[in-house]
Amino acid sequence: MQKNDAIRCTVQQCAYHANNENYCTLNSIVVGTHETNPTKKECTDCNSFERKNC
Ligand code: SF4
Repeated sequence: MQKNDAIRCTVQQCAYHANNENYCTLNSIVVGTHETNPTKKECTDCNSFERKNC
C-alpha cells in the first residue's frame, strides 16, 4: 500500500500502517476521543485503526 505523506503514524500493529515507514496508507483518518472531556493527547484515538492480521 502507498503511504500518505500527510499522515505520520507509529502504530505498527495497525493494518493500515506502511510497515517499513512510519506513515499511514489511508487517504484520510478519523481521530476521536474515549473521554467526555479530553485534556491530554492520551485521551485521543485513531478511530480508523484496524488490527493487523498476524
Ligand atoms: S489508521 Fe490510524 S492507527 Fe492505523 S496506520 Fe493509519 S493513522 Fe495509524
